[in-house]
Amino acid sequence: MNSYFHCWHEGDAVGLPNGKAVCVGRNYADHIEEMNSAVPEEPVLFIKPTTALCSASEQLRISHLQSRGEVHHELEIAVLVGETLNATSQNHTQAIHGLGLGIDLTLRGLQSDLKQKRLPWERAKSFDGSCLLSTFLRYDSSTLALDDLSLTLSVNGHIRQQSNSALMLYSITALLKNISEVFTLLPGDIVLTGTPSGVGPLVKGDQISGQLNTHTLIEKTNVI
Ligand code: ZN
Repeated sequence: MNSYFHCWHEGDAVGLPNGKAVCVGRNYADHIEEMNSAVPEEPVLFIKPTTALCSASEQLRISHLQSRGEVHHELEIAVLVGETLNATSQNHTQAIHGLGLGIDLTLRGLQSDLKQKRLPWERAKSFDGSCLLSTFLRYDSSTLALDDLSLTLSVNGHIRQQSNSALMLYSITALLKNISEVFTLLPGDIVLTGTPSGVGPLVKGDQISGQLNTHTLIEKTNVI
């Protein structure tokens, strides 16, 4: 059973239900380059179900996945949606309830096989526990600038991924607009906005930390 629920950085529960996570592929040029992928003509989207959500405040279990190949980290800015957004919505920024970090856990070898066979990616991306979420900062445009959010992932004290939302090909607002034209976003849904370069494997015994601007939202989470 999934015990995850959305939490504020201060520790209290957000009080919104667990929703789907709509994820964006190929949103930073340096990651497109490291994967030898093509720059997309529109955002590449896929979905993780509610059963994929898990908390970065707890240990990250990957040992049961190792027979399926390498588990890679993809650090991403996570947008917590607070209001319904659909094709008729006008103000997408107003629907942003919180901002946090997500790690889009990816079975990289399996994803490569699926890509080669031109099959969907869900087996590699949407399995139970594949969407690790940090606590969230309350969104306030006076303290958090959507086009200038820095994100950093360290593994065992060494920086693995570091970037800024200014380098996204599609901005957070543009993504919310584009996504909600296809999938209605509901309060409690998450948007994972794509990963910068530096993706790589996690192994048992690793310890991961993540920062959004100056806030440490993932603090020494043990990988077991
Ligand atoms: Zn990703």
